[in-house]
Amino acid sequence: MTYIIDVPATPSLPVTGSEQRFPIRRVFCIGRNYADHAKEMGATVDKGTPMFFCKPADAVVSDGADVPYPTATDDLHHEVEMVVALARGGSNIAAEHAAELIFGYGVGLDLTRRDLQAQAKAKGHPWDIAKGFDHSAPVSALHPASAGAPSAETILRLSVNGQPRQHTKLGEMIHDVNAIITHLSTLFELKAGDLIFTGTPAGVAALQRGDRFHAELVGIAEFEGRIV
Ligand code: MN
Repeated sequence: MTYIIDVPATPSLPVTGSEQRFPIRRVFCIGRNYADHAKEMGATVDKGTPMFFCKPADAVVSDGADVPYPTATDDLHHEVEMVVALARGGSNIAAEHAAELIFGYGVGLDLTRRDLQAQAKAKGHPWDIAKGFDHSAPVSALHPASAGAPSAETILRLSVNGQPRQHTKLGEMIHDVNAIITHLSTLFELKAGDLIFTGTPAGVAALQRGDRFHAELVGIAEFEGRIV
């Protein structure tokens, strides 16, 4: 079989300690998963029903590549998040089996056009143009789960130009990774290659052209990048 246009490239991430790369199928994100961030956004937290949105797989920026400042915004915000990569999929996954799906862990930025998100919220519009724009998901190399998983005590943090911006323990998550996988798997049949952004703590703020950021899931993954 041949295709009528060139087949699009498969977005991928490097894997720490391996020559092989992780192919990205979809990117799921959970919103309002840390109470301190929900509060700073003036949102109420629904502990029963998590809120999800998606980004295109090719929004992922890998290998520390420069991140171009997006069009159509004057208020680009950082949201540092743990990223979970799935090696297996399934539907209606029980929480006690969720960890079996995980290939590994990374750290990423859920970049957000905050001004367009505020307009979307006010009008009851979807978040796609605020969240799913080109280059909106820089992610580190992935740390295989076989090399060790993060714990509730693991620190997630971001600095910009050497100044601390966001800092939390993973234990502050409202829905933990197992719960996120369980919920998502009732909404979608999860697949190998899926990435899940697991939410951001307080401290979200604007990025400018020229800013350098350093995102860290301490002891698991880290990366540096630049807004250009
Ligand atoms: Mn987010």
